[in-house]
Amino acid sequence: MRTLETFMIDQAIDTLLAYAIHRGLIDAADEIYMRNRLLALLGLTAYAGGQAAPDMDTPLHVVLDTLVDSAAARGIIESSASARERFGAAIMGTLTPWPTAVQQRFLAEYAHSPRQATDWFYRFCHDTNYISAYRTSLDRRWQTATEYGALDITINLSKPEKDPRDIAAARQAPASGYPACLLCAENEGYEGHAGHPGRQNHRILPVTICGEAWGFQYSPYVYYNEHCIVLNRRHIPMVIDEQAFAKLFSFVERFPHYFLGSNADLPIVGGSILSHEHFQGGNHAFPMALASIETPVAFKSYADVEAGIVKWPMAVLRLKHADANRLVRLGARILEAWRGYTDASAGIFAFTDETPHNTITPIARRRDGQYELDLVLRNNKTSAEHPLGIFHPHAELHHIKKENIGLIEVMGLAVLPARLLQEMEALKRALLCGGDLYADALTAKHAPWAQGFLPKYTSIAPDSIDAILQREIGLVFATVLEHAGVFKRDAAGQAAFLRFVQAVG
Ligand SMILES: [Zn+2]
Repeated sequence: MRTLETFMIDQAIDTLLAYAIHRGLIDAADEIYMRNRLLALLGLTAYAGGQAAPDMDTPLHVVLDTLVDSAAARGIIESSASARERFGAAIMGTLTPWPTAVQQRFLAEYAHSPRQATDWFYRFCHDTNYISAYRTSLDRRWQTATEYGALDITINLSKPEKDPRDIAAARQAPASGYPACLLCAENEGYEGHAGHPGRQNHRILPVTICGEAWGFQYSPYVYYNEHCIVLNRRHIPMVIDEQAFAKLFSFVERFPHYFLGSNADLPIVGGSILSHEHFQGGNHAFPMALASIETPVAFKSYADVEAGIVKWPMAVLRLKHADANRLVRLGARILEAWRGYTDASAGIFAFTDETPHNTITPIARRRDGQYELDLVLRNNKTSAEHPLGIFHPHAELHHIKKENIGLIEVMGLAVLPARLLQEMEALKRALLCGGDLYADALTAKHAPWAQGFLPKYTSIAPDSIDAILQREIGLVFATVLEHAGVFKRDAAGQAAFLRFVQAVG
């Protein structure tokens, strides 16, 4: 007996197969075989489709939802968010070519040009739903004009929220240590579990970095265009040293249309994963890259290297040269000087006892026929007044941004927590009706900030409030970056910066 439900499942399977053939994920000649594999995954032994034409107008996430709903309703999978997510990856993983086939295609495209290769692979990662176009379409993005140029702001909704059932299940499951982390090569094709995403539709391309085996992949959360991750095949910790600079350029030489940067190697000023050596890059003109050199400087024995302090809220030295090796060597010298640098008058201390505080967030790129290395000076010392970090957003900004200022933010793209959307909606309602901001927990923490900016605006109206809130969030982000800057933007701070440049020699 054919029910409406089996009709819908059969049609979803047909639509998915037509999609996979259309996108070149599978060959039309393999259709029957692929249908049977999908039926097995879905716990079905019967199929009566093929009568109606596949509905190619239905978005992929809707087709997948039909299949995932059906599996959950029939008890094939749990109904938690993570189980549904993993099953979606398993369905798409069935239709994703094997790693070797992906690698061969990438090499063939690379023979035409590096850009053609990355264009193809980025498209492929969307086609397999490893990057969900639907999820990224939910992200909020805007720009805010500041004295440092237009800053990029995003409230990222691509990263799935944690379901309490998954948190509980993950707590009960014994830690297997496999894969050791989210960046390990062992994630390729991994089924996942309650505490680890499914990666059956994930593919990693091999790249050689300074003679070592590394991997190249995109971030499934796409914080910016073509957000890629370059990762060591081995699970070893992040280290910023001369070799790290060489590795960045090793990749940029191979992919000259991509920048590549690294998080710093110390807590607070580093990224969220310090245990696995990796870099992040992509094809996006970040605000910091667009900022120009404000104060040219020179380094002894490196008169041929164009250098200067960038007009940016954080302390950034930019080096330019046609030979990347010159930048690697000068970068290493600056890093060595910075690691040991103390300037009490600027509040910079290199060590507390044996614990180091100074490090660098480096970014490498190719521009106008030259190589560039941006060195962002970082310090992770804490104090009684600033327990989360002296050069970290201070407490009065935590209602907008409390998390680490990592590579992406350093370059001028704020990745703000999803909770802000709901809080800004509540704040909007309260501001428009003149309600008491302190009466509601969602708005109370934003109240001092809102009361601070309200006098700047003659009227708060339904058609202007969104733009006002976006602008003010952007301005807070500029202050966040100023707090993270080790040399401040005032005359005393800039004099201290030049003293450090002198100290490098
Ligand atoms: Zn790892």
